[in-house]
Amino acid sequence: RAKRKGRDAAVLFTKDMAEEASLKLRRSEELRCAVENGEILLHYQPQKNLKTGKIFGVEALARWRHPTEGMISPCSFIPLAEESGLILELGAKVLELACRQARSWQDAGLPALKVAVNMSARQFQDCGLTTLVSDVLAQSGLSPCCLEIEITESLIMQDVDAAVRSMTQLTELGVTLALDDFGTGYSSLSMLKRFPLSKLKIDRSFIAETPTHPDDNAIVSAIISLARTLDMEVLAEGVETEAQADFLLAAGCEAAQGYLIGHPLPPEMVARLLAPSHAKVAPEGRETSGRR
Ligand code: C2E
Ligand code: MG
Ligand code: MG
Ligand code: MG
Repeated sequence: RAKRKGRDAAVLFTKDMAEEASLKLRRSEELRCAVENGEILLHYQPQKNLKTGKIFGVEALARWRHPTEGMISPCSFIPLAEESGLILELGAKVLELACRQARSWQDAGLPALKVAVNMSARQFQDCGLTTLVSDVLAQSGLSPCCLEIEITESLIMQDVDAAVRSMTQLTELGVTLALDDFGTGYSSLSMLKRFPLSKLKIDRSFIAETPTHPDDNAIVSAIISLARTLDMEVLAEGVETEAQADFLLAAGCEAAQGYLIGHPLPPEMVARLLAPSHAKVAPEGRETSGRR
């Protein structure tokens, strides 16, 4: 009986797995078409200096506008693209869209912004990455100093020497590098020195419980002083409340990103947020003394 039960379970298991595999395959195919058909677009989340009130950058976040299912989150399609290898094409598309958009905001007379683009390990291992980035910059006419590339700890720890090499090449183009979701990975602090990173982005899981949890306050403060020691910029992710913003400013972190400042927005909303006409609506003093 036990044997029989076991066998049924095994049958069920393989059937589920087969179903899942074919579903995944279909989804990958669909995603491949989506990349080709322009269903992948970017929303941009503002990054603000909490002290000056100035929006200095935006992070480009991929969205899949599915014809029947609506907007699909990157959390579901990026891993799929990574598995199937499609991330190379998707990543190139994202880079191109982001650089073109940043340049067109500049052409429209909006204050200069730095655009941050996320990169996957697979893109980073691709030997054509530096060429791709320099080509996209040239074609879009965006200055390299207006592009930031976000990478994660797990990415750089996979092959430290190779990562250092790729990162160095990118910085030689004039692009800057930010370490995303900092604190969630396992990079050793001594390793950090080896990478040409300009910025640490404190993961939002640490920000979430500030300023009420002393442990998180201590971790966030430690990351801020670490960044200072290593001569790096620091930005807090996932800032949702005034209390968090106040805590960060007091702890010495001026740069922030999160729902308090703004959700990821379609490009036309970013333009509205930054347009001089918008700035005029707000009282003069607020731009310089405002907190958000
Ligand atoms: P990430 O790079 O850490 O991006 C930040 C994520 O946190 C975004 O989710 C953003 O919407 C969300 N977020 C921002 N502020 C807040 C906040 O105050 N509270 C909370 N709870 N969440 C906040 P999103 O857009 O769903 O992106 C998720 C992840 O997908 C990104 O995490 C990034 O790892 C990945 N991703 C997005 N676009 C791309 C891309 O073009 N290429 C690659 N390789 N990965 C991407
Ligand atoms: Mg990011
Ligand atoms: Mg992040
Ligand atoms: Mg994150």
